[in-house]
Amino acid sequence: MNDDNESRDLSLATLAIRSAELRTDEMAHSETLFLTSSFVYESAAQAAGRFDGSQPGNVYSRFSNPTVKAFEQRLAAMEGGERAVAFGSGMGAIFGLFFALMSPGEHVVSSRSLFGTTNTVFRRYFTKFGMEYTLVDIDDIDAWRNAIQPKTRFFYIETPSNPLAEVGDIRALAELAHEHNIELIVDNCFCSPAVQKPLALGADYVVHSATKYLDGQGRCVGGAVVGKHEALEEVFAFLRATGASLSPFNAWVFLKGLETLPIRMRAHCENALALAQWLEQQEGVDKVFYAGLESHPSHKLASQQQNGFGGVLSFSLVDAQGSKERDVAWRFIDATEMISITANLGDVKTTITHPASTTHGRLTAEEKQEAGITENLIRLSVGLEDIEDLKREMQRGLAAIGY
Ligand SMILES: *Cc1c(COP(=O)(O)O)cnc(C)c1O
Repeated sequence: MNDDNESRDLSLATLAIRSAELRTDEMAHSETLFLTSSFVYESAAQAAGRFDGSQPGNVYSRFSNPTVKAFEQRLAAMEGGERAVAFGSGMGAIFGLFFALMSPGEHVVSSRSLFGTTNTVFRRYFTKFGMEYTLVDIDDIDAWRNAIQPKTRFFYIETPSNPLAEVGDIRALAELAHEHNIELIVDNCFCSPAVQKPLALGADYVVHSATKYLDGQGRCVGGAVVGKHEALEEVFAFLRATGASLSPFNAWVFLKGLETLPIRMRAHCENALALAQWLEQQEGVDKVFYAGLESHPSHKLASQQQNGFGGVLSFSLVDAQGSKERDVAWRFIDATEMISITANLGDVKTTITHPASTTHGRLTAEEKQEAGITENLIRLSVGLEDIEDLKREMQRGLAAIGY
């Protein structure tokens, strides 16, 4: 395997393909899948050495597997981090990072607009284990400052936010955090390192759901934390003891996914921007939420800290009678023929979602209103089908609401 320092000079597209190459004596060109739960030793003495850590080498795939390690090294190289620790899911990674590093009584300030299950971790499990949190608007830096307490350990953001694509200023939040001896965690799932490099902007940790763009073809569930060696040693120890480990098979799929990540993300960004611009012109589309549009309040900041605008966009509808009720969104969704009705995202296949009744369905009416999740809102994860075919799908939806 290449060593980290050597890989730092290579560009992202090259790192995606050439970092952490995993070659055995059989000289297979593709990375080897070590589909094994355990490893054997030459002797009793070697076994003892592996167990007490005095000899390097593999022990057991809950915490040491060469294919998983290669995925960690490649992702770390692409994010520009010293190290990554892979988990069995994105939630495993997020939970693992918090619970490995925090103690009862400590506090997190987080952006309000979050992946639903991350919100559940705060609401149910932080509370249960005596940890505290405050939710603030992602773009209100004064609110972040005012929420800081003596025991604040982390700032946490998901940027751009789901589904309205509001952007948090990573550099400004990192500076504010560091002034108060706080560390910044960024969930980089929506952009991936091909579009946004939070660590280079000052963040201390990146968390990923590899399930989304890193895989890119909707096959496997997985996740990772990226950051500095020392802190991640704690996270690794937590993983080793608590067992939310990534399967070597999934790691192998993600390794292959990473190879095409930069080129896929360019294509996702291009398709999503073209579709957003087209949707903005259509009768029946009330508003389009995509930071690539100049009409979006986060456009300027997104242009500075991202090198594209990602593949996820949302839009609200108004039917020919002027209704903006749930029924309008559902009629639109049900009229599409090719695109997939599912809540997943980050796939080469375009997916369509009604956030108010699925991903954000458990929020109260008040919380929905605060988060801007209206009944007439649709989220698209724009895939890599031909743009003209995607426009035709949108036209089917618009026809169903009277246009
Ligand atoms: C999907 C997702 C997660 C959770 O990842 P899983 O792999 O489903 O556990 C976390 N954050 C964001 C932004 C996501 O989209």
